[in-house]
Amino acid sequence: MKVNKSDEEWKKLLPEETFQITRNRGTERAFTGKFWDHKEKGVYTCACCGKELFHSGTKYDSGSGWPSYYEPVSNEAVIEEKDTTHFMVRTEVICSDCGAHLGHVFEDGPRPTGLRYCINSASLAFQKKDV
Ligand code: FE
Repeated sequence: MKVNKSDEEWKKLLPEETFQITRNRGTERAFTGKFWDHKEKGVYTCACCGKELFHSGTKYDSGSGWPSYYEPVSNEAVIEEKDTTHFMVRTEVICSDCGAHLGHVFEDGPRPTGLRYCINSASLAFQKKDV
């Protein structure tokens, strides 16, 4: 379900760090987030709107200091857009329901996709689940 809120509304609803990262395209420092070394079974959801984004089964240790997954729960869960900020050409990963900035996707991931979805912990919440 699409969620459409103004920055002012999001600012009231979200913790400051999550607001800065998801609505202002910020990045948390490596190895500081709550999920980079998180290994429970379940589903990672959008910290803003609750949409299911990544399953724990696709999470792997990339050594980057950010939670990393080789694929989202479905192709419809995220939007991927070219990002040319910070003198780099990267692909931004965005929640398809609420437009939250999640992180970036790189082509140096493991099999089967070869992709690395490098996501900010602050953009995610977690639901423990037997999956
Ligand atoms: Fe969202």
